[in-house]
Amino acid sequence: MVGRPDVLVVGAGAAGLAAAVAAARAGADTLLIEASVRVGGLATVGLINLLLTLDDGAGHQVVGGLCQSFIEDLVAAGRAVHPPAEQWNSEDPVLVGFWRRLGLIWGSPESVRYSVAFDPEAFIDVGLERLAGTGARLQMATWMAGVATRDGRIEAVYIESKRGREVLCPKVVIDTSGDADVAVAAGAEHESIDIPPHLWFRVGGAPGGSGPFAFETLDRDRLLIPWGPLGRRVDPLDPADMTAALLECRAGARQAFAAMRKSTPGWGEAWLDDYAAVLGITESRRLVGDYVLAKEDADRPFEDAVARTGHWTRRDVVFDIPYRCLTTPAATNLLVAGRCISTTRYVHQATKEIPAAMATGEAAGEAGALAAAGDGDVRAVDVGVLRRRLSEAGAFL
Ligand SMILES: Cc1cc2nc3c(=O)[nH]c(=O)nc-3n(C[C@H](O)[C@H](O)[C@H](O)COP(=O)(O)OP(=O)(O)OC[C@H]3O[C@@H](n4cnc5c(N)ncnc54)[C@H](O)[C@@H]3O)c2cc1C
Repeated sequence: MVGRPDVLVVGAGAAGLAAAVAAARAGADTLLIEASVRVGGLATVGLINLLLTLDDGAGHQVVGGLCQSFIEDLVAAGRAVHPPAEQWNSEDPVLVGFWRRLGLIWGSPESVRYSVAFDPEAFIDVGLERLAGTGARLQMATWMAGVATRDGRIEAVYIESKRGREVLCPKVVIDTSGDADVAVAAGAEHESIDIPPHLWFRVGGAPGGSGPFAFETLDRDRLLIPWGPLGRRVDPLDPADMTAALLECRAGARQAFAAMRKSTPGWGEAWLDDYAAVLGITESRRLVGDYVLAKEDADRPFEDAVARTGHWTRRDVVFDIPYRCLTTPAATNLLVAGRCISTTRYVHQATKEIPAAMATGEAAGEAGALAAAGDGDVRAVDVGVLRRRLSEAGAFL
């Protein structure tokens, strides 16, 4: 038994970083474990280097908090760009064309949104600085392998690393594994889906302006290619299928690059810089929690909303995300955040995006700290207090 943190966060993707920073900021002794040796998940090692979207598609910001403050740090370091507020919602073809080159224009009719192109290494650095600054502890190369539950709460979390199998006894667990690994281990109801994967990659030595499927980056003559989807579905929870798909995706991406180099003027000296280190899996498991947010809930205010998000391809629509989308009857001391929260497939399209994942992560972190200050029961958290704390930290509720 190697620790009794107040809050254990499982998975250091965008949601897990936000959760750990928020929990530690709120005074909880926080441990963040990550299976790989890099933080950021799909947003960094997956090369999904676009934050879509922080607005409602009608010119108003709806995601703030830690996501906004990460962006400010990235912009200050010269490693992120986004349209200024006065351009949001503009359909001016010149502006739309400018931001499209960076991959920030999606949906129809096309308009400028509050979306951000960023550098993944800088995102990692900001995340690590924030963890260190708030005192959240990070342990990488550590895999959540299972849980022991008793009387409706998670009593122990089994972790695996080079040291072998060890046990943590946290007061509260936040599942930001992307695949709801903890929730499923605790017996929570869930849905899962097979999905065709993507594999984004970067090209060096290639001038910009090469068309809609080669996004410019912050680096000169370095482009981001959103390759995919693969022509078949994979089971994101089956390592053998995922390995086979990764090899197929690499081969497909390599062929696509060779064809692009041949046909694109100015690409004669271009090289394939790097592939995403993980497959681009848009969805795998989703929690079926205390509330399942559905399409019909668009623009519906919830009294227990702890985050909000627009929709990256739709204009003028906002989803309030109730706290109950993060909780489950399976365990009183468990919260779920990020891309595997409790929504329908339709709403998942919006809540899986990095800004929304960070917003639910931040909410879970604050809630986890509040619960840990008591007996760990996350469903007993005073949502009014939680909402006030989140607002004070800059969240839009
Ligand atoms: C092809 C594609 C395109 C996309 N385009 C965009 C876009 O343009 N803009 C946008 O905002 N979003 C986009 N998204 C969505 C977005 O990238 C993800 O949904 C989001 O980054 C998910 O963040 P997360 O933290 O919830 O999960 P992840 O990023 O999946 O992070 C989960 C972390 O948990 C770790 N982990 C998993 N299991 C365990 C375990 N058992 N123990 C310990 N650690 C574990 C993983 O290693 C990982 O670091 C796209 C997604 C894909 C696949």
